Amino acid sequence: MPKKTVRDVDVAGKRVLVRVDFNVPLKDGHVSDDTRIRASLPTIDYLRERGCRVILMSHLGRPKDGPDPAFSLDPVAARLGQLLGVPVRKVNELTGPGVESAVGSMAPGEVLLLENSRFDPREKKNDPSLVAELARLGDLYVNDAFSAAHRAHATTAGLAAVLPSCAGFQMEKELEALDSLLTAPRRPFVVVLGGAKVTDKIKVIARFLDLADQLLIGGAMSLTLLKASGVSVGASKVEEEGLVVAREALAKAGISNCDLVLPRDFIVADAFAEGAATQVAAADAIPDGWMGLDIGPRTATDFASRIGGAGEVFWNGPMGVFEMPPFAGGTRSVAEAMAASTGITVVGGGDSVAAVNKFGLADKIDHISMGGGAALEFIEGAALPGVVELPDKEPV
Ligand code: ADP
Ligand code: MG
Repeated sequence: MPKKTVRDVDVAGKRVLVRVDFNVPLKDGHVSDDTRIRASLPTIDYLRERGCRVILMSHLGRPKDGPDPAFSLDPVAARLGQLLGVPVRKVNELTGPGVESAVGSMAPGEVLLLENSRFDPREKKNDPSLVAELARLGDLYVNDAFSAAHRAHATTAGLAAVLPSCAGFQMEKELEALDSLLTAPRRPFVVVLGGAKVTDKIKVIARFLDLADQLLIGGAMSLTLLKASGVSVGASKVEEEGLVVAREALAKAGISNCDLVLPRDFIVADAFAEGAATQVAAADAIPDGWMGLDIGPRTATDFASRIGGAGEVFWNGPMGVFEMPPFAGGTRSVAEAMAASTGITVVGGGDSVAAVNKFGLADKIDHISMGGGAALEFIEGAALPGVVELPDKEPV
């Protein structure tokens, strides 16, 4: 059931508390990647145009014990102001008398950013006293932070239970893209998974073995699966705790209609280092002492052609250690094949999205999920607290 959005409620002139995801990387006191801030602009603009007083809430990083200037949202307010073309006021607290008077003096169309929600220890506990203090600031709660929706925190879920609420445009976009992928993918539906750990993604593997036509697996994950199938993988990074679930996945693949495709070759190295000696090895002939750090050229070509023939593709997780140029080729060829594909293309996951951005291909992908962990939990079929709390759209 689709969620009510800002289009479905009367927002005009209201004080609107908007949960955004401004958890952006900072460098030397500046925002080094503003993708997430840009993603919130359609919702903020829509509300400003309707005379709302827009009060923004976000977390940033993982501050340990209360307020920590290194995690202040000051640089975010500065960048947001540049993007909106109007100054953004920023307060140094999340709630309290200072915040209340700042909200009280807002004019219609103005934007106020509250301080990092995780500076308040009550945020992560979804503490009712914090929810009540925040609720006093607004008439309406808008959740536009899909990427934080797997957390039941005060600003991500608690407020939706006490204020009239709805989804913002970014939340709507993320839910629509993932929902259509899970319920009505265009076929053939090809899924590409990679990254570090099988245990992190085992439920995602299981779900896609039910849903996809082909499941292509690369990255360190594929080496754990190969080892579980009895192949020697040399000194490759293998997740020993993952071997049991890897065997379960292989067994499930054996009885599923989905083709599980593992790499047939790897770029192997004699050390985990950019300057290591490298060679191409067949997947069943990785020499002792060598480690697979990227999928090999035959695998990359095979994956690219399967992606090219897909009606829809979902990709999560790099094919190799793409942070080091000698081992970025497999990830690059998957990214390029997706960019060139005529099917619907969706990328999710922190490192895969970083890779797509690094290769300059982001604008050639249909949907880039900023979801990360939330997207994977959604795919697993989990109910996300920040989503379930939002009211459904009324049937027309
Ligand atoms: P995502 O954030 O896209 O979900 P993950 O966090 O699961 O992806 O995994 C990304 C990490 O996996 C990267 O840091 C990458 O270097 C690492 N990785 C991928 N392939 C290998 C490999 N063969 N050996 C070691 N590490 C790998
Ligand atoms: Mg990651």
